[in-house]
Amino acid sequence: MTFRGVIATLFLVIFSAGWFFSRLRGTLERSLLILFLLIFLYLLITYISRQVRRQIQISFDAPQRMQENTWFDDLLDEIYLNVSRAHSEKLQRESEVKELAARSDAVLDHMVEGVAVTDIKGHILLHNKSFCRFFPDEPRIIGEPLGLLAKKAGIDDLIEEVLSGNNPVHTEVTYSGGLSKTWSLLGIRTLGDSGPKSGYGIFLFYDLTEIRRLERVRKDFVANVSHEIRTPLTSISGFAEALMDGALEDPKTARSFLEIIVNQSHRLNSIVTDLLHLATLESGKASLVMKPVDLSSQVASILEAIREMAREKGIRLIVEIDPPNLVYETDEGKMNLVLSNLLDNALKYTPSGGTVSVGAQIFQGRVEISVSDSGVGIPKEDLGRIFERFYRVDRARSREMGGTGLGLSIVKHVLELLGGGIRVKSTPGEGSVFTVSLPFK
Ligand code: ADP
Repeated sequence: MTFRGVIATLFLVIFSAGWFFSRLRGTLERSLLILFLLIFLYLLITYISRQVRRQIQISFDAPQRMQENTWFDDLLDEIYLNVSRAHSEKLQRESEVKELAARSDAVLDHMVEGVAVTDIKGHILLHNKSFCRFFPDEPRIIGEPLGLLAKKAGIDDLIEEVLSGNNPVHTEVTYSGGLSKTWSLLGIRTLGDSGPKSGYGIFLFYDLTEIRRLERVRKDFVANVSHEIRTPLTSISGFAEALMDGALEDPKTARSFLEIIVNQSHRLNSIVTDLLHLATLESGKASLVMKPVDLSSQVASILEAIREMAREKGIRLIVEIDPPNLVYETDEGKMNLVLSNLLDNALKYTPSGGTVSVGAQIFQGRVEISVSDSGVGIPKEDLGRIFERFYRVDRARSREMGGTGLGLSIVKHVLELLGGGIRVKSTPGEGSVFTVSLPFK
């Protein structure tokens, strides 16, 4: 039945009731008729409203069933159309808002900069993931005053300056809570619509610690290189000038000056060679040429190059490779660099009459090669730093021995490239053991 059908039936009932009413004489009959009419109207209205509700429910839950429930299509169609249009507009707006929020969340969360938005009083309204890295000890961030969080870093006055002023603040701060950190901070206040006391604070934190550290390392490196190169250069030019100024006339003096010049040129050569090795290793462009290498033969040929120096110093050389025919897969040239640097150091820092030994074994799927000496040893406090570029325990002794301060740094880089590592044990006055560990294939 359609809605018009229902209305027509209703008219018919009311008309018939009126007709009956005019024909009835007794008050009781008339009262009964009115009562009957009221009950009928009540039931009809209840029925209609239940149908309307049901139909609306069906239209949202299972619109495909709408066809079966066309009790009074015209009215319901209209209700349904209006309500469903409003509903789908609302859903559309909701999904647009959600998508916009998801997009800005994705952008914010992938930023390395920490971002926080505060109200005009500085309470944090929203922030991205990176922001938490700047305040890792804070259990709660949303709703907290940014000034309070920043107080620990000593930058609360900057937050205040941003929120109370109209100009953006861009500055670099050094925060020394535990570890020293350098942050770049950019703060902007946006003006709100409802007067000067409205708006938001937008803050951007960027961690410059690593960049500043690398800048320092680079500056130190340049200073170290200049210093290392200047010493032999000054010597060379000084003695060459002395030769020109007359020392050349005395053959004995001239010879000793020339020897110094040759030694200092060799020193310059070693520094530049080591620097080139380091530059190639650190550039990440160093390639590996892997092949099976017989360790005993490799060690023997390196020892051959230093045997003369060992004999002169009266140092005993010992080799203990187990098994003696140990073959491992490596880049032979690069491993030569490692072993010759370690053996060279062992000889340099071992006084006459001492011992230098090379040992090797397979241990837990790795080749372990150790270079031990009975030399001067390394104090405990220096052990962690000897692999740094230009770090020397005894600067004068290293120079005297022709050291560049770069050898162990090169060793460390080569081993990293080969997927290995190095550890050191040392007792001052007794000697040192450097152990190289490499994957055994
Ligand atoms: P260097 O060219 O000065 O030898 P390295 O980088 O090879 O530079 O070594 C860094 C420092 O580590 C050396 O200056 C020295 O003080 C210390 N060192 C390295 N090997 C030994 C060793 N076998 N015995 C004692 N000290 C060592």
